[in-house]
Amino acid sequence: MPRILEKISLKSLNTFGVQAYARWYTDINKVEDLQELSSTDQISGKPLLILGGGSNMLFTKDYDGLVMRINIKGIKSEIIEDNVYVTAGGGEVWNDLVNYCVDNQFAGIENLSLIPGSVGASPIQNIGAYGVELMDVFHSCRAYEIQTGEIREFSNWDCRFSYRDSIFKNELKGAYIIIEVTYKLSKIFSPKLNYGAIAQELQNRGILNPSIKNVSEVVSSIRVSKLPDPATIGNAGSFFKNPIVNLGDFRHIQSVFPDIINYPLDNERIKLAAGWLIEQCGWKGRVIGNTGTWKNQALVLVNHGNATGDEIFELSSQIIKSVQIRFGVILEREVNII
Ligand SMILES: Cc1cc2nc3c(=O)[nH]c(=O)nc-3n(C[C@H](O)[C@H](O)[C@H](O)COP(=O)(O)OP(=O)(O)OC[C@H]3O[C@@H](n4cnc5c(N)ncnc54)[C@H](O)[C@@H]3O)c2cc1C
Repeated sequence: MPRILEKISLKSLNTFGVQAYARWYTDINKVEDLQELSSTDQISGKPLLILGGGSNMLFTKDYDGLVMRINIKGIKSEIIEDNVYVTAGGGEVWNDLVNYCVDNQFAGIENLSLIPGSVGASPIQNIGAYGVELMDVFHSCRAYEIQTGEIREFSNWDCRFSYRDSIFKNELKGAYIIIEVTYKLSKIFSPKLNYGAIAQELQNRGILNPSIKNVSEVVSSIRVSKLPDPATIGNAGSFFKNPIVNLGDFRHIQSVFPDIINYPLDNERIKLAAGWLIEQCGWKGRVIGNTGTWKNQALVLVNHGNATGDEIFELSSQIIKSVQIRFGVILEREVNII
């Protein structure tokens, strides 16, 4: 039976590094731990927070409930013709899975190298980077229903993935614990190089026919040069989603700001770069008390040392307000506010 601990600091368990205490805390190392806990009255009626690597969370206060850290490990793979089905425990570190796939020449997630966090959280917001989203490679996941204790399998379709979104952030928010994810990867490598500086960086290194490992290394080095390392400066990556506006609104904004960075999604919808909008409002690299925005990327809010979650949240509210005043666009937070 997993031990339930009381009044545990979550400071080292969230990448913002803000202080917050869990009233109760437990580590889940195997599915049986969940079943055993559910069979007692130790978790019934308690508010429950599922924690992975804490890299997409901002604690604005102590958590008056049970924090369950998912630590279920294991990676296995099955090759069927040109496809590789890789299954990993929800508590595996995402980048360890990427490295396992790169080492075994399994193609598909190399562009997602070095994203912090766990396998179990990867479908929650449909993680994405450098032109690849999790939904491109997600095959299925097995999840534990908290209310009934039943284990259900979700297909790619069931998850209702969209940009930084899934059913687990909406209708089923807080209802399931993802215990295992299966990714459909490939033995055949078709590199995706047309996003960000990947192609340029490969060229700088004199690589004409990149391997899976080359792409993974290049993506990792670009990320290291752009994003602060949470081990030294607390942050949760992009704090806001890139907003999507309709064509009419876009044309209006563009008439005033002709340089606006934009990515047409289809004939009707345009994605804007939240970082650019924030930068235009003068926020890039600003330090406000213990918090601020990152010097190389205004989309990343940082903890310069002793920031509280409230301070970071307040800064995010000010940024939302100024972007709305200048561009008429309302930014949505990507980070989960607790
Ligand atoms: C430096 C940095 C760079 C980043 N870059 C990117 C990026 O390029 N692309 C991107 O998409 N994200 C990025 N992120 C955000 C973050 O890494 C991802 O969202 C990641 O998937 C979060 O994983 P986690 O295990 O830390 O989740 P947590 O922060 O612990 O949890 C996030 C949410 O998922 C839920 N959850 C966690 N595990 C489970 C589970 N097993 N079952 C059910 N629910 C669960 C939590 O309750 C919470 O709602 C970045 C973060 C940082 C710090």
